[in-house]
Amino acid sequence: MSGLLVPDPSIGCTNEVTRQLVAAAFRTIRRRYVMARHQIAAALLDADGQVHVGLHVDAMVGRAAVCAEAGALSAARLVTDAELIAVAAVRYPKPTEAPTAKVVPPCGLCRELLFDHAPGLVAVISRPDGGTELTALGSLLPHKYVGSKWPAPVLPS
Ligand SMILES: [Zn+2]
Repeated sequence: MSGLLVPDPSIGCTNEVTRQLVAAAFRTIRRRYVMARHQIAAALLDADGQVHVGLHVDAMVGRAAVCAEAGALSAARLVTDAELIAVAAVRYPKPTEAPTAKVVPPCGLCRELLFDHAPGLVAVISRPDGGTELTALGSLLPHKYVGSKWPAPVLPS
């Protein structure tokens, strides 16, 4: 399957932040997709306007896989301490699937991870009507785990 056959899911995004992040994630996964190894890319926007991308890294033992959001978080923290304000992730279709790249929400582990590092983050999610919207991470994870390692993350008011 040629990557040119998979439409850019950012085309239908009406919000500028959403469009920018979905486009960055799509460009990344279109370029780096490898079946069963790299299925998803994520893009994180920081408060300085920089976008940091990450690539999902699958593993033979699924638990060892690393999500694209974790990669993007690491990439961001390599170069900046700026607040992270929005995230989007795009799943590229397998060759056996319809040629549609999909915006996917952070998985449960990534909700925990992102909340620990950016409690005020908003995530791009798909709506049932095919559109996208920005949703507060806190609403995707209303009962975050709080251990004793760090002070509890504080949601911005
Ligand atoms: Zn994840």
